[in-house]
Amino acid sequence: VKENGRNNICHYSEKLEEAFSRKKVIGRQLLSAVDNGELELHYQPILSASTLDVVKVEALLRWTSPTFGPVSPAEFIPLAEAGGSIFGIGNWVLRKVCADLRSFRDEGLRLKAAVNISGMQLMQPGLPEQLAEALADHGLTADSLELEITETVLMSDEDIISSLINLRSMGFCISLDDFGTGFSSLSYLRTFPVDLIKIDRSFVSGIQPGASDDTLVRAIIELSHNLGLRVVSEGVELKEQFDLLCALGSDQLQGYFISRPLPASALKAFISGYASA
Ligand code: C2E
Ligand code: CA
Ligand code: CA
Ligand code: CA
Repeated sequence: VKENGRNNICHYSEKLEEAFSRKKVIGRQLLSAVDNGELELHYQPILSASTLDVVKVEALLRWTSPTFGPVSPAEFIPLAEAGGSIFGIGNWVLRKVCADLRSFRDEGLRLKAAVNISGMQLMQPGLPEQLAEALADHGLTADSLELEITETVLMSDEDIISSLINLRSMGFCISLDDFGTGFSSLSYLRTFPVDLIKIDRSFVSGIQPGASDDTLVRAIIELSHNLGLRVVSEGVELKEQFDLLCALGSDQLQGYFISRPLPASALKAFISGYASA
């Protein structure tokens, strides 16, 4: 029994060490990911519930690590924040989104993009200038971008609120991401400077054929509309979810049922195929 216990401890600490060194390696590699051309953006179409047109796309970052291969942004964004590389990476994302929107436009495709902005990026004093420059360099204006921030970030600091008020005055729409996963009271929605809310996938996946639980989604949509906010439902994977969310009044829909996130070229093919279907 004793020996077994020691083996377990040994095994456990090896795993810890492995996880620790993966984090360290990723954190270090991220510092040169921009310069090494390891980053890419994929775009996921978002539909209007009323017209079923693609109203915008969400830009989602992809990174291929030289040693680990593709790493999820859910894993590497927090490490980029911890190691300080988020500033360079975040600015690369802004410039790349604007460059891609420009080339879509030059080909006759007028699109808007939603961009994820991390908490540290929002706190960065240079963010408004970075945004303005990325747009101006590609002949675009603030109405081409929507800024997605998470509920937890919004609740973390008073300075965040004033930063958002400033960005809104520049003409950007602010979208509250992952709504419902933080711990904010619904009544906070009234005071947050946001234009849209994105209902988190965890609520959408509760809508299943047969055993449907739409109570929360229903309440969130109704309250948001009463406050003058538009609602985007994310993680729509099934036709049943799509139909019910439309019926409940969700303004926009996003999820694998419509399309996975796509590289820019595949997005163009998706939209032209979709428009003619
Ligand atoms: P998010 O902003 O909530 O993005 C939605 C995530 O859900 C994406 O994961 C997307 O691929 C995935 N998704 C979309 N539709 C479905 C669906 O129907 N079913 C399922 N199961 N998943 C779906 P992804 O691309 O792995 O991104 C994970 C998170 O990483 C994002 O969550 C966002 O918080 C962060 N992230 C991604 N790109 C960036 C970026 O450029 N900057 C920052 N700061 N964060 C980013
Ligand atoms: Ca998002
Ligand atoms: Ca989300
Ligand atoms: Ca999320």
